[in-house]
Amino acid sequence: MKNKFLLFIAVIVLIGFSTTACGDGGSGGGPLGGDPCASGHDHLESLICRRAGCNHQYALGDRGPGGGFIFYVADSISGRTPFRLYLDADDNTGIIAHYLEAAPSDIGGREWAGRTGDLIPGLSQSSGDQTDWAIGRGRKNTAIIIAYGQNPTNPPSSNTTPFTTPAASACVAPYNAGGSRTDWFLPSKNELDLLELNKAYVGNVGSPGVISYYWSSSQYNSDLVWYQNLSNGGQSDWYKWAPYLVRAIRAF
Ligand SMILES: [Zn+2]
Ligand SMILES: [Zn+2]
Repeated sequence: MKNKFLLFIAVIVLIGFSTTACGDGGSGGGPLGGDPCASGHDHLESLICRRAGCNHQYALGDRGPGGGFIFYVADSISGRTPFRLYLDADDNTGIIAHYLEAAPSDIGGREWAGRTGDLIPGLSQSSGDQTDWAIGRGRKNTAIIIAYGQNPTNPPSSNTTPFTTPAASACVAPYNAGGSRTDWFLPSKNELDLLELNKAYVGNVGSPGVISYYWSSSQYNSDLVWYQNLSNGGQSDWYKWAPYLVRAIRAF
């Protein structure tokens, strides 16, 4: 009888664990230890953890679910409205997101593209076109860049240099930043600017007094891309073949 009772308890415990499986879990800070989030928080489209009995939310500098550092929080206290995160090249709807997380270190120097002369559709088409600048847009930009490079008919031109996408491709799976997440991407122009603004919470971004050019995923025109000097904050544009630094970010 006692054995049956223990088995009953064991089954209840197992059911309990399976129903609190991690959604957007990871190593985030918060009220762990006996709470429903010991296996990870769930922040899908929510600033505050959605698990019953948990009120966890991330702050700037917290370790994120992907093993990086939180560098942007869109919450009511700051007055920042949540942003739309576009998940792939064809996503025009997006999901609601509140956080940006930066990988703890650079991937390194990578060409944005193996050649110039491609005006990639779906990205900004000129210097003042803000189509691909927004917070929440970098993941879609990255997917568009990679898809363009994988299409052998782009573009049917006299340029015989292959269109490779080293910077964008380095950010996506199988890349991870020490965690299990592989939904990293090359930041958009405005996302990169937030990284500059809050780089103290991430650390290891750029070097004071040293030119530290980082690529964004925002196209300037057929030859140029927006980049930012993360040692002094300035944004400008340069040729796609330059091997500038790449720092992957993710959003949730
Ligand atoms: Zn959480
Ligand atoms: Zn939680």
